[in-house]
Amino acid sequence: MEVSRCCQRRHRLLQTIASEARETASFTGRPVFAPEVMEAMRSVPRHCFVDPELEAAAWDNRPLAIGHGQTISQPFIVALMTDVLAPEPHHRILEVGTGSGYQAAVLAQLAGHVHSLEIIPSLAEAAQARLHRLGHDNVTVHCADGYHGWPEAAPFDGIIITAATPTIPPPLIDQMARGGRLIAPLGSPWDSQMLVVVTRDEQGALTHRNLLPVAFVPLRGEGERASE
Ligand code: SAH
Repeated sequence: MEVSRCCQRRHRLLQTIASEARETASFTGRPVFAPEVMEAMRSVPRHCFVDPELEAAAWDNRPLAIGHGQTISQPFIVALMTDVLAPEPHHRILEVGTGSGYQAAVLAQLAGHVHSLEIIPSLAEAAQARLHRLGHDNVTVHCADGYHGWPEAAPFDGIIITAATPTIPPPLIDQMARGGRLIAPLGSPWDSQMLVVVTRDEQGALTHRNLLPVAFVPLRGEGERASE
C-alpha cells in the first residue's frame, strides 16, 4: 500500500477508536485507552493480516473475512479488549482464537509472551508464519482446542477469548493467575453477546463485570459440545 495513504488511514482509524471509546464510556468505564494500546494499534500493520484484495479496507473500523468463515475483529474491539487486559512487559497472555494473528500481534507489543490457540490447522500455520515474518517472536501459536487452555504455560496474567461462548470453559478459569484478568464474549453465537471481564484477586476470589454488547463468531470444539 502506498505509504502516505496508509499513514492517513492509520491516523483516521486511531481517531475513530478514540471517539468510539468516548461514546461507549458509559458502558465500559474507559473514555480513553492507554497510550501504549493506541500506539500498538497504530504500529501493528493490520493490512498484513488480511488477503491482498482486502488491504484497502484493512484500516477501516470493521471486521474482515479471513477465510474458513472466520473474521479478524473490528479494531475498536481489539483495542478495547487489549486495554482491559492491560498487558505489561512481564505478563504472560493466553489467547483463544488466533485467526489471522492480529490481536496476538497487538498484545505482543505490550506483553512478555503471548500463547495463542487456534483450532483450524491452516489458520494456525499461516498466523505463526505471518507473526514470525513481521518480527513478533514473542508469540507462540499452538494448533489446539482452546477449551482446554494451555496448562504447560499457565498461570496467565491475562486470558482473551476471541470467539463467542455461552460459558467460560472451566480450564481457562483454572489457568488465571492471582491478580489476573480474563475477557470473553459470553452468550449464544447466533445472537449478540456480552463482553465480560473476570478478575481474580490476590486471594483467588473471582468477580465478573459486563462491558459491552458485541458480535463474535462461535467458539468450536469441546466448548460447543459442552453447551449443547
Ligand atoms: N483473534 C483473531 C480473530 C478471531 S476469529 C484475529 O485477531 O484475527 C475466531 C477464531 O477462533 C477463528 O480463527 C476460529 O477458528 C477460532 N476458534 C474457534 N473455536 C476455537 C477453539 N475451540 N479453540 C481455538 N480456536 C478456536
